Amino acid sequence: MRILVVEDEKRIADFLTRGLQGAGYAIDAAPDGATAINHANSTDYDLIILDLMLPDMDGLKVLERIRGRKAGPPVLILSARGAVDDRVKGLEQGADDYLTKPFAFVELLARVRALLRRGQPAPEKLQVGDLSVDVMRRKVTRDGETIDLAPKEFGILEYMMRNKGRPLSRTMIVEHVWDMDYDGLTNIVDVYIRHLRSKIDDRYTTKLIQTVRGIGYMIEGPDRPPAIPQSETPFERV
Ligand code: CA
Repeated sequence: MRILVVEDEKRIADFLTRGLQGAGYAIDAAPDGATAINHANSTDYDLIILDLMLPDMDGLKVLERIRGRKAGPPVLILSARGAVDDRVKGLEQGADDYLTKPFAFVELLARVRALLRRGQPAPEKLQVGDLSVDVMRRKVTRDGETIDLAPKEFGILEYMMRNKGRPLSRTMIVEHVWDMDYDGLTNIVDVYIRHLRSKIDDRYTTKLIQTVRGIGYMIEGPDRPPAIPQSETPFERV
């Protein structure tokens, strides 16, 4: 899946690029309207995330130009303007969704996924051991039992499950789950991991969330015992 991020504020553009890359998407960034239109004309994107206030032209103008082409990709407008008429104008001009700044990354990611999922009805399910997460319904179960998670807990768990078996640093987790205005300490991650453990691990013999010393955390299912090969006859058949 390839996404074009149109955003002139470098800090936000970088934040979006890193976060979406971490979620497994390929990202191109355009810092202004002209670059955005060029990119959109030359590349088949699955989604365009469009800021409205751009240095060279209004984002709605960009939308109009993109929408002038037939069957373009879905467009998610991202803007500090929260006024109702801006939303209406954007949606009328063919945007598919609208998110107001500041936003939490998890929220953006949920919208992005929803837009990308159109036309692909299969719900996304993540599985680690006997823990499963239905991303679309935001439903978590372990061994068939439903577990209720707060949004940030869900965000962390989803991020870890998408990267199962891969150690994730506290910084990586913060960057994926907290919004860009979060300037606090990364040890907030430890607090949330403690909550998560109490909900998904404490009552079970097999612990899925692991502390990776010097790095952070990782989720991993129990190792499946290697299949024992049928004993080979040590003697050659005659
Ligand atoms: Ca802007």
